[in-house]
Amino acid sequence: MKNNMNEILTTNISDDQLIESEFNALLEDYMNSNHRKKVDIIKKAFNFAREAHKGIKRRSGEPYILHPIAVARIACRDVGLGSTSICAALLHDVVEDTDYTEEDIKAIFGEKIAQIVGGLTKISGGIFGDKASAQAENFKKLLLTMPEDIRVILIKIADRLHNMRTLGSMLPSKQYKIAGETLYIYAPLAHRLGLFAIKTELEDLSFKYEHPDTYEEISRKVAASEEDRIKLFKHFATPISEKLKALGVDFEIKARVKSIYSIWNKMQVKNIPFEEIYDLFAVRIIFRPHDYANEKADCWKIYSLITDIYKLHPERIRDWISRPKANGYRALHLTVMGPDGNWIEVQIRSEKMDDVAERGFAAHWKYKNGEADEESELDKWIKTIQEILENPEPNALDFLDTIKLNLFASEIFVFTPKGDLRTLPNGATALDFAFDLHTNIGSQAIAAKVNHKLVPLSHQLQSGDQVEILTSKNNTPSPDRLAYVNTAKAKTKIIAYLRKEKRSKISRGEKNLKIFLDKNELIFDTTLLNKLLNHYCLKKKEDLFLKIGRDEIETDETMRKLLKDKGDNLLLKYFKMAVGRKGDNLNLQVQEPDKKPTEKNPAIDRKATYILRDQAGVKNYSIAACCKPIPGDDVLGYINENENVIVHKRSCQVATKLKSSFGPRIISAKWADHNEISFSATIEIKGIDGVGVLNKITGIISENMAVNIKNITINVSDGIFDGKITIMVHDVQEVEKLCYSLKHIPNVKSANRINE
Ligand code: MN
Repeated sequence: MKNNMNEILTTNISDDQLIESEFNALLEDYMNSNHRKKVDIIKKAFNFAREAHKGIKRRSGEPYILHPIAVARIACRDVGLGSTSICAALLHDVVEDTDYTEEDIKAIFGEKIAQIVGGLTKISGGIFGDKASAQAENFKKLLLTMPEDIRVILIKIADRLHNMRTLGSMLPSKQYKIAGETLYIYAPLAHRLGLFAIKTELEDLSFKYEHPDTYEEISRKVAASEEDRIKLFKHFATPISEKLKALGVDFEIKARVKSIYSIWNKMQVKNIPFEEIYDLFAVRIIFRPHDYANEKADCWKIYSLITDIYKLHPERIRDWISRPKANGYRALHLTVMGPDGNWIEVQIRSEKMDDVAERGFAAHWKYKNGEADEESELDKWIKTIQEILENPEPNALDFLDTIKLNLFASEIFVFTPKGDLRTLPNGATALDFAFDLHTNIGSQAIAAKVNHKLVPLSHQLQSGDQVEILTSKNNTPSPDRLAYVNTAKAKTKIIAYLRKEKRSKISRGEKNLKIFLDKNELIFDTTLLNKLLNHYCLKKKEDLFLKIGRDEIETDETMRKLLKDKGDNLLLKYFKMAVGRKGDNLNLQVQEPDKKPTEKNPAIDRKATYILRDQAGVKNYSIAACCKPIPGDDVLGYINENENVIVHKRSCQVATKLKSSFGPRIISAKWADHNEISFSATIEIKGIDGVGVLNKITGIISENMAVNIKNITINVSDGIFDGKITIMVHDVQEVEKLCYSLKHIPNVKSANRINE
């Protein structure tokens, strides 16, 4: 298609001829599709748009109308949309760029087309404004169009793809912005909607503009290795082809090379050079079943035929047929050992599955007059997006993050105790699962059982886990729970709960203060308010109400004295000075001897480094269950609601999240010497099984006087052993000493401390 256009341009034919020929190409695409042939309305839309954009050129110098035609072609050919969408694509810039209104479109083309064009006009600006808030606002608008009519976003993606294909004529500064936005939002969206071919092209184009040199280099290397690849593929595919032919299967077998962007991504993630990427291509078998009712069985027949020839990698079978991906993807993937000693992935799909895989199933979707199918995963996803939008996040960047969690996630499948299957994003925790079941279950969750074993709510789930949630009616979500969730849904629900709770505490505090003031015949004016704010070192009256509402500040004799005291001016000055110097005046409050003891610890100086010590076996901190640091680890402290210090490793992911959400509650922390209390640590040990190796391992551990074994498991298979040893130690040095001794046992290949 691109080549075509270049030829036409260089032969210098007129703009009109160029426009005609591009439009005819669109009509041809449309006639080749499965849609009903409503050519007239498409012609009408084309003529209308052509007239409206008349005389306008794109930056590249082409007539403007070529852009809407190109977008309509993508919508038709690459997304599989029908006449309504093609018309909307042809008209998509008319309301934005000319004097015509949505009303005009409605009068001429009817309500549906006008609505889609209206939706596209609303989101015509970029996602990335100059301000984060505008960014989120535009993004929100974009997402809001989805539940209404999915076609709006599909055409928007087509629009973006054409803009990316012609990005070269834009200013470089704009190129980066558009490329960045494409990679950040549009490629994941395309992926989530199952538009795999478009997603890949968007990523490659963005990457090309952001890293032109690297893009060139990888392309060159892919091209240079092509000959070898073809040889390898032929060697591999020939025996399969022969057997398939003998069975009378109607099929096509081809090699699919990884995209430039995903090669680069893999190089980054695995930290390896191009030469070490062994899965540069996958083999794809696409077959036409005699009867679509049997396509699943056919896939497994082909699977069995391949595994008769090549040895299967037992852990790399992906059955996306019995359980399709949320974006509708279906296929059977397996990895086998090729004749040249490389693992090769084979993807088996029917022609229909292939169409959905490449163009997404959005095209076959709902708006085709209410086939009341069982709710698809895509529907569920869109519902989640809607829920998030209904609980608006005050912080724009958080909002983007929340949505992005949902865009990128790949899925795991877990079971309820009754055996129902639920789909969750990869990385979901037991608490995410609880919120997925029901908001009440999430709110009241206290722990979980995974495969009948008791685990904390922060436990990350794996595909195939069976999960039971233990609840307590009295439990309510606390802010630190936010660190345990990875799904947008759970996050949104917790934040919504906390906000509601805060509001009700604020109004309770306000009420209590009013009762107190009335009783003491005090008037709530600015002077009084400022006195209180200064005294408790608060900024806003809402903060004061909140503290009162939470009983953290009591409306008692102390407050009465403070407010009634005649010498309050002097007193106030004194407080202000103290505040100025120390930044912490909460303890200046007069201590009443009969004051009720609170459960909370005294306030911790958040600026100083907190020393983690134990006196006579009593610790002044607790260890985070997620990362289980021990003395010697680099750590930080998190002050929880009860002013207790929880110690996390600095590298801990939960701590990273706490940092971004509760920055002021993070303090620096340092270990004092620990000789009394011991901590649990786990060592992973791997090696080659041989006579006496296991005896030597247990021998070394028990020889080590300071160390207590808590748990030991060692698995031996195919001559390799792999074990986990949990021990009680006093600090990192003891673990390291032990690892060092273990590594010196012959045949032990590695011994390292791991996170359990
Ligand atoms: Mn456009």
